[in-house]
Amino acid sequence: MAEKIKIVGIIGSGFTGKQIAAHTALHDFIVKVYDITPTVLEDAKKYISGVLKRKNKTEAIQNVSYYSDIDEALEDVDLVVEAVPENLELKKIIFSQIDNSAPAHTIIGTNSSSYPVSKIESAVKRKDKLLNLHFYPPIPMTPMVDIMRGSETSEETFEIGKKWIEDIKCEPLVVKKECLGFVFNRVWHAVKKECLKIWEGGYADKETVDTAWKIFTGMKRGPFTSMDGIGLDVVYAVEMSYYNESGDPNDKPPDALKQMVENGDLGMKTGNGFYKYRRRK
Ligand code: NAD
Repeated sequence: MAEKIKIVGIIGSGFTGKQIAAHTALHDFIVKVYDITPTVLEDAKKYISGVLKRKNKTEAIQNVSYYSDIDEALEDVDLVVEAVPENLELKKIIFSQIDNSAPAHTIIGTNSSSYPVSKIESAVKRKDKLLNLHFYPPIPMTPMVDIMRGSETSEETFEIGKKWIEDIKCEPLVVKKECLGFVFNRVWHAVKKECLKIWEGGYADKETVDTAWKIFTGMKRGPFTSMDGIGLDVVYAVEMSYYNESGDPNDKPPDALKQMVENGDLGMKTGNGFYKYRRRK
């Protein structure tokens, strides 16, 4: 089964796409990286080559190639992981492009943080070859991936996807039936939601919440620092997608978070979020 995946295409090489690409190359797969923005692609190349050098896998650098043309990127891939921004309409457009460009046998996975792949599947013909493959950056530190079926995903597709996750030395978090938030992201959603409510309502300082979390869990980062790491634009989009799905006013993310996103205060990547940072390269 493992031999079924040899070449992996990554669509969107931003914050998570480049990490998935580097981790995949580290485990001896051929990786083809595509992004619509040339500067992002350049940055991804520096990042991926840097990771492979640091891990003493310089020979794997030649296994990673970079594309601005989606047809070229996908002409011979066995698996595609889509990691473009959290926007359902955009994901449908990209899935349709992937469906047109990739060989008939290729499995398509989305790294979406909130959308079940069943919401995207109307955009493609190969409905039996779709998966949610949701990663948790920073990927080497949190080696686990949610895996969830679409409404017509075949058992073969699911087993190949699960085996691939194991081959890149991650823990497959198997979702048995469609679930908003998959496995652990659902838990993380509950944590984020309550932390944001404490912050929005002025019940306690964010520093107090983060300190309590670190003492209680033994983790190095509290939830507000983690949200800054993820990117507040991503956090806001994901929380909005839960809210749109449930329609429960209690799920609506704070307006103050929306304001931060509109101000360009996106967390570590811009230097300003719940906390201040030196800008991430
Ligand atoms: P990002 O903005 O860093 O990266 C998205 C990339 O997609 C950008 O490089 C952008 O240039 C590219 N892109 C945009 N339109 C495109 C197009 N039409 N064709 C090709 N590339 C295009 O975002 P991100 O944080 O990496 O999030 C990407 C996806 O991963 C989202 O669905 C998000 O929910 C999910 N995700 C994010 C995290 C996280 O911690 N940030 C964790 C797990 C999953």
